[in-house]
Amino acid sequence: MYVVMVASECAPVAKVGGLADVVYGLARELEVRGHSVEIILPKYDCMRYDQVWGLQVTYENLWVPWDGGAVPCTVWFGFAHGRKCFFIDPQSDHFFFSRGAYYGFDDEALRFAFFSKAALEFMLKSNKRPDVIHTHDWQTALLPVLLYDLYAGAGMPRQRVCHTIHNFKHQGETGVHVLGMVGLPDPGRYAARDRLGDDRHTSTINFTKGALLYSNFITTVSPHHAWEVRHTDQGFGLGNALYRQQDKFGGILNGLDYEMWNPQIDPLIAARYDAGSIERKGDNTRALRHRLLLRDEQRPIIAYVGRLDPQKGLHLIRHTLYHALANGAQFVLLGAGSERGINEEFWHIKRELNDNPDCHLEIGFDENLAHLIYAGADIMIVPSLFEPCGLTQMISLRYGTVPVVRAVGGLEDTVFDWDFDPRPREQRNGFVFEHFDTGGIDSAMDRALGLWRHAPELFRRLQVQGMNYDYSWNHPGHHYLQVYEFIRDR
Ligand code: ADP
Repeated sequence: MYVVMVASECAPVAKVGGLADVVYGLARELEVRGHSVEIILPKYDCMRYDQVWGLQVTYENLWVPWDGGAVPCTVWFGFAHGRKCFFIDPQSDHFFFSRGAYYGFDDEALRFAFFSKAALEFMLKSNKRPDVIHTHDWQTALLPVLLYDLYAGAGMPRQRVCHTIHNFKHQGETGVHVLGMVGLPDPGRYAARDRLGDDRHTSTINFTKGALLYSNFITTVSPHHAWEVRHTDQGFGLGNALYRQQDKFGGILNGLDYEMWNPQIDPLIAARYDAGSIERKGDNTRALRHRLLLRDEQRPIIAYVGRLDPQKGLHLIRHTLYHALANGAQFVLLGAGSERGINEEFWHIKRELNDNPDCHLEIGFDENLAHLIYAGADIMIVPSLFEPCGLTQMISLRYGTVPVVRAVGGLEDTVFDWDFDPRPREQRNGFVFEHFDTGGIDSAMDRALGLWRHAPELFRRLQVQGMNYDYSWNHPGHHYLQVYEFIRDR
């Protein structure tokens, strides 16, 4: 099988969240199984060039048709921790990917419509004819539309598309003029509701609706979320469109890259350990305290690692911070927000608690520190409003850090409550709460802290049970290959 992934992120080169981990991890798993995988990414000025090996120009003067003219692009090639990556570098006055940040601009839809078009143009001109093109999220959702309506007739008639939706909240809503810029003839005819027309806003087209209609298969990132988006408001207006396409829609739980996230060999942590030597996790706890200047006392460390976004339950994170401090625990936060107001709010809390020896807030993105937190913390909170899959709880389990999560999306598929889950005790791995309020998270947190304090040997057992779960790419890799096989023959 020859697969080309087209995405706006890939770990660790260009990473904002879980999308990056998934693109990297799935690509690696497919290659380990003997398939050929290439990844096409934008060449951002702010990406981690130190994580790309052998970066060199591979294609010059790729003229990408755009807005009635054409934009010349250079395509670069390099290995990102073994993965074969192509980077699209447009020489245009728009400076689409040279803005010092991955996202957050007024012309987002244009930037990524251009990227989708350029990725196809590159495949066409460089004679790449993959069996499957795997696109990810709204940024590349226009690609299947362009493939079938423009590129199939130009020499790519047999390519099939699998599109994965990692986050339904962002769908690529924009004006119909963008379709004219990418060269689709008669853009107005795409605006109908049963095509790309947005179901919630008139005179707006929606890239993700295009992917739903034109892809050969659509996945989201956990079975439970696949149910939620069709039956609750978590589809963010796409419920009807999903219902119409339900024969080619399903949920596949994300995997975790077990090489990148492995406490036995992780070079970014202070002491290596596995389920049989979990007592060495304590060395990481001490190293974490030392690094973050927390007092070295026998107290549980509660952590949050993740984007600072309303989706993640910010008021519950804030509440748990104070609740932890009031209950003799320590609290560590690592996160960055895309909205300035949110960052400012957390900076305010950081300043307020500056002299507190039991608390540290790190506002920014820091892959290395993230590893040490997963290894050193005792409890990880994931109190999300919605969570399509969630990787933080899976990484935590891998590192013997007990997750306290809300029963939603992929969290419900992966974390099983120590006290109440119907599974046998030896299969339970964390604490779960239902209600999206402080009472909800307190009820789970108090049980977690109670176990840590009053039954340390049971807490240890819970940690080990979590470490014994297999959330690697092994199963999901197999499921994606089944999807690819299914659509290849159509
Ligand atoms: P989402 O995709 O919604 O951001 P996930 O839980 O699926 O959430 O994935 C989050 C990934 O990003 C994890 O690998 C997590 O460790 C990482 N991450 C998020 N924020 C940060 C940060 N500020 N610093 C380092 N890693 C982060």
